[in-house]
Formats: sequence, C-alpha cells, structure tokens
Amino acid sequence: MGTSSTRGANGGDSRSTATPDVDAVVVGAGFAGLYMLHLLRGMGLSVRVFERGGGVGGTWYWNRYPGARCDTDSVEYSYQFSDELQQEWRWTERFATQPEILRYLEHVTDRFDLRRDISFRTTVTEAAFDEAEGCWRIATDDGARLSATYCVMATGCLSAVNRPAFDGLERFEGAWYHTGAWPHEGVSLAGKRVGIVGTGSSAIQSIPLIAAEARHLTVFQRQANYTVPARNAPLDEAEYADIRAAYGEHRRRAKETPAGCWWAVNPETAEEMSLPARERELEERWRKGGLSMYGVFNDLLVSPAANDVATDFIRKQIRALVRDPEVAALLSPGSFLGCKRICLDTDYYATFNRPNVTLVDISDAPIEEITRGGLRTGGREYEFDAIVFAIGFDAMTGPLLRVDIRGREGRPLGAKWADGPSTYLGIAIEGFPNLFTVTGPTSPSVLTNMVPAIEQHVEWIADCIAHARRSDRPCIEATREAEEDWMAHHEEVAAGTVFPACNSWYVGANVAGKPRRVMPYTGGFPDYVKKCDAVAASDYEGFSLSAG
Ligand code: NAP
Repeated sequence: MGTSSTRGANGGDSRSTATPDVDAVVVGAGFAGLYMLHLLRGMGLSVRVFERGGGVGGTWYWNRYPGARCDTDSVEYSYQFSDELQQEWRWTERFATQPEILRYLEHVTDRFDLRRDISFRTTVTEAAFDEAEGCWRIATDDGARLSATYCVMATGCLSAVNRPAFDGLERFEGAWYHTGAWPHEGVSLAGKRVGIVGTGSSAIQSIPLIAAEARHLTVFQRQANYTVPARNAPLDEAEYADIRAAYGEHRRRAKETPAGCWWAVNPETAEEMSLPARERELEERWRKGGLSMYGVFNDLLVSPAANDVATDFIRKQIRALVRDPEVAALLSPGSFLGCKRICLDTDYYATFNRPNVTLVDISDAPIEEITRGGLRTGGREYEFDAIVFAIGFDAMTGPLLRVDIRGREGRPLGAKWADGPSTYLGIAIEGFPNLFTVTGPTSPSVLTNMVPAIEQHVEWIADCIAHARRSDRPCIEATREAEEDWMAHHEEVAAGTVFPACNSWYVGANVAGKPRRVMPYTGGFPDYVKKCDAVAASDYEGFSLSAG
C-alpha cells in the first residue's frame, strides 16, 4: 500500500503513488491463478487475485454441462508441486468428473489458505501500464481500482465463451444454454425436444446423456470430429497404490513426452511399421481408450500419410458402431486426425442408433436464424423446447482481449494483435512490461496436459519476477527482437505440422473475423521447456530491465 489515499480491492480510486497497492495482481483463480498466488505469496509478495466466478476453479467452475469430465487421466491432471498433496488426494475414476475436479481445487484452496487473497465475482475490465509510475493500474467491474507492480493473466485458454451470434436468438421462446456457462442449479431436459449445435468435445460428452433424458435430440453438425472411446472406470486401490508409490517417476517421464502426458508415444513412424503392426498399435490404443491415440505413430501430426492410416482405422470403427451407413458417413471426418482436438467419448457413436436422436448436417447450410419455436437451417424449421449451444470458445486470445489491456504509450493489446497474437514464449509481450500470461498464445498449453504446462509457466514467471526484484530496475520486458525470433520459430515449426490445414479453434477458425494463426506452440513440451530454461539461465535473454 503506497499512500493513505489509495484503496485496495474493495473499491475506491488510487492516485499516483510511489508504491503500488500490491506487488502483484493475478487475474483468474483456476489451476493457474491459485498456484501463482501460492508461489508469489511464498516469495513474500502482496498479491490480490480477481476472479469472475463466485468460487475457484476457472474452467471447472463454469463447465457444468451433462457429462463434463476431463479427457486427461485424473492422476496426472493435478498439481505436482506438493508431494503431500498428490499423495493425500484420492481420485475415484480414471477421468474425473467436473464436480470432483472442482472439489479438488477447493481442497487445494483451503489447504494452502488461498481464499483470503481472492476477490470473487469481480471481473477485471482494464489493465493499463502506467509508465510514469512503472506499475499496472487495474480496474474491475465493481468500480474498484488497484495498482500493482506485476500483473499475471491467469485467465485460461478456454474461458471466453464463443457467444451465440445467431439472428433471432432473443425471439426464442424456449430455454437456451451454452455448455461453457451451464446453470449451476442444473437443467432438466426430461421429456423435452432439444437441439444441440456443435459436435466438439463438450457436445460429444453431453450428447449421450442428453439423448438419454430428452424426448428427442437433434444434433446440428458443421464438421465431424474424431472421437476415441474414453474407457472410463473406477480406479481401484491396488492400482492407486502403485501410482502413488511411483508418482514422481511418472511425472518425470511425462515431461519427456511432447504432450507432457503419461501415455507412451510410439517411437516408430507409420512408414517404419508393417501393416499388421500398425493395425495392432491402433487396435491397442482404441481398446485402452484415452488420448493416447495422439501417440499412435511418431509422425502422426507431421506426416499426412501416417495420419491417413489412423483416420482410415477410425472411420472403420465408426462404420461398425453406427447402424445407418448414411449417418456413419456423416459422422466420419474428412480432416487430419489431431489437427482439431481429438475428443473422448462414452457411447457417442452408439447414441446415433437411438430412435430419439437425429443428426443434421449443416456443413453446407449454416443456421439461418433462431425462430420463436426453434431454429431454421437448409430452408427447414426445427422446433425445440431447449437449445444447447456447444459452440466452444474464443480460444487463447479471447480471455486476454476481453480485458482492455494497454501497454506502453497506452497501446491496446488488441491493436498489437490485430493480425494475430505475438508473444515471447507465450509468457511475455513486447511493449507490455511486467505483464505475464500463463499458457498464453504460442506456448504449448492446449497441446499438452494443461496442469504441468501451467505449473511450468507459473514457476518460470515466479523466478522471472524474483530476478527482476533483485535488480534496482524491477521492470522486465520482452524485447522486440526476442519476440520476433520466437514468433518466426513458432511459425516455422507449425508450418511443418498438420495444424494449419484444419478449420479449428487452434487457428481461430471457429470465431468469425478472428485472424487465422496457429496459436499453440507445436514443437512439443520438452523443447519448449528447454528453451524457457535456457532463457532463464542466461539472465533472461530476450528481456530488458528498466526502472519503469
Ligand atoms: P469446440 O471444440 O470448438 O466445438 C464447438 C463446436 O461447435 C464445433 O463442432 C463447431 O463446428 C460448432 N460450431 C461453432 N460455431 C458454430 C456455428 N456458428 N454454427 C454451427 N456450429 C458451430 O468447443 P468445445 O466442444 O467446447 O471444446 C473446446 C475445447 O475445450 C476442446 O477442444 C478441449 O480442448 C476443451 N474441452 C475439454 C474437455 C475435456 O477435457 N473433457 C471437454 C470439453 C472441452 P466446427 O467444428 O465446424 O467449428
């Protein structure tokens, strides 16, 4: 707290002060924000966390749609910074449900006494760098103002919902929902005629459950997605004891894999394998379930030929699971496997054998409008009591650009990113000193297990802040040259993969008008971590220090 004329998180104006109100503001109280708070507080910094939700959890606070659960095995979708924590927590299923993950994050919050530094139901609307004072000026939707030396955006990659922008939505007389902002009190769809728009991960998880409840479910599909059986199951005691005994070793090995996950990556390319060996590998991964299909061939994401082998196999599975050949054909994607996020499901394809489920292909006939009674596409009106929009998120850049962030000379981040995001390591942005993004655009983030990716970023940011604070010039900023070099590398690596070829949220294709750029770093977790470590070891090469 600088002077008596400033007020902190609870409201009021802050005037220019030599000492900011707090050392750091953290935006968001999901996996990233909670750990950031814990670390910075441990370093002796004063920290204020602002969280839009009424509780902790981020993604896991908002996404309460039917069937919401994680696609990464629960035992590895958790923090590893505290061995006591990972030893004492007991996951019940292979893939944890949303309520269980939320319980875990609430447990972490209480165990590390984090709640007292978090302002809930508070949305950060502006963050502006004050060059005269060398601090960030933060404004929130409740009118509060706070200054901070450091500002960490722990806002997540998939937290800005892709708002339904269909003509006539306000006329609809039924109820409508977005999977990413599901009502906390729950929704009964029993006996109702329900339409669902979208067939991404959220839809693929919820469709089997909604179909079991609704009178009739109509699924509107723009592009089909690949989904692999989850094979979820309870975790038994013996299995759990083995995991606990070797937790550290599992974690260490995961860090050596491109996705930072425990599942093994086949060391061989498809070309190096015989036809029967390829088939066995595919069968085995399909039987085991989970996202290990990403690792079926070493070159899956860089060789179209290898990718074809895998997609032929999955299309064969779809034909076996879906009785109506026309429906099976519609459900069979034509794109590369993995250039859109692979989904996991429980009985997704079989759901289309139900008499109360209809698939409508809208690839050539976009939704024209929402009507009073339903929606119109392809010149036909469909009537519904409820519509579920499972249309995803303004991914990666959306959570940052929905805050009015201004750097040096008042330059808006939106202006800097008009043609797409540009960062140094996905952590820092030239022209925005002392601002850090946890798993920001051009970091591996969404192509890895998010929790270790978050922990790596949070620890790196904490070390970087400690480095700046040791100096008499505590203002640290990525240089233009370092950012340009990193972006050139990011783009070169992405160009050698299948990612640019698909209309996915990875490239921003799902949001009208969004610049098309591969946003996550595609070079894999180990190389990325090596680069970050090298930057830190060389006295933060690519960063400059200044007084403000
Ligand atoms: P998504 O993957 O972006 O899927 C959105 C769906 O809505 C797509 O099928 C998309 O079609 C469709 N869509 C969007 N706008 C549309 C429009 N105007 N008209 C018609 N259809 C439209 O979103 P999501 O399913 O919420 O998943 C997003 C990401 O969140 C996932 O990829 C995953 O990373 C994460 N997630 C993870 C889990 C998990 O771990 N279990 C669960 C849910 C989500 P197009 O494909 O044609 O764009």
